Amino acid sequence: MTGLRRLRRIATALAGSLSHFLLPSQCLLCSAGSRGALCAQCRDALPLASGNLARCPRCGLKLESAGAWTPATSAPLCGQCQSDPPAFDHTLIVTDYAPPIDALIQDLKFRARLPLARALGSLLADSAAGHAQRSGERPDFLLPVPLSRERLEGRGFNQAVELARPVADVLNRPMLLTACVRTRHTGAQAELPLSERRVNMRGAFAVCDRKLIENQHLLVIDDVMTTGHTLRELAACLKRHGAARVSNLVLARTPLH
Ligand SMILES: [Zn+2]
Ligand SMILES: [Zn+2]
Repeated sequence: MTGLRRLRRIATALAGSLSHFLLPSQCLLCSAGSRGALCAQCRDALPLASGNLARCPRCGLKLESAGAWTPATSAPLCGQCQSDPPAFDHTLIVTDYAPPIDALIQDLKFRARLPLARALGSLLADSAAGHAQRSGERPDFLLPVPLSRERLEGRGFNQAVELARPVADVLNRPMLLTACVRTRHTGAQAELPLSERRVNMRGAFAVCDRKLIENQHLLVIDDVMTTGHTLRELAACLKRHGAARVSNLVLARTPLH
């Protein structure tokens, strides 16, 4: 990336951030006045916004008989987690990767609309706070999924880090930004057939500082989960290096494997 392109990208991001402070607070989706990122009506309309009740607690996959569980009885594991358990222990999904959230995530990532990160991050923060209250469990550290150096230079920011900031505030936990890196530029998972994504991720992460994660509960944060191979690979790497527990907090999951 040339210096000029990078400067232009930073200028765009700064302009976006500035307008966020100058404009009155509005719902991202319907523009109604709202103190939060979404007004109450739009928030209630998100698919499964109320939590993980009809999702596999381990991987967040939507279970077929949605609505069969109440807060008093936790949902069972999905078939895949039973036959091929991932290294992570728990996954909390805010909503489906579907309209209207999908367009907002794309605006954030591909058009560098950084003010969206704080708004979307506040949805993650609300989910995290609700889960902490229900379960009585709080992670030791947040770990936004690292980007490769190439991707970071191209995009100018890591959307997972930006989304994690409001979560760090609400849980009062620090982010680990140097404990783990993405060692390989694997290309966009979304461009590969589903069958090749798992192989594509193998060995993609490395832990740089084992002491930071040993015996810790890490909350991994990402924007989108599709097959789950990225999060599987990252959790396996963290567990190999001594992490005690790995949970995922993801803004949106595609409805199908
Ligand atoms: Zn609204
Ligand atoms: Zn599952």
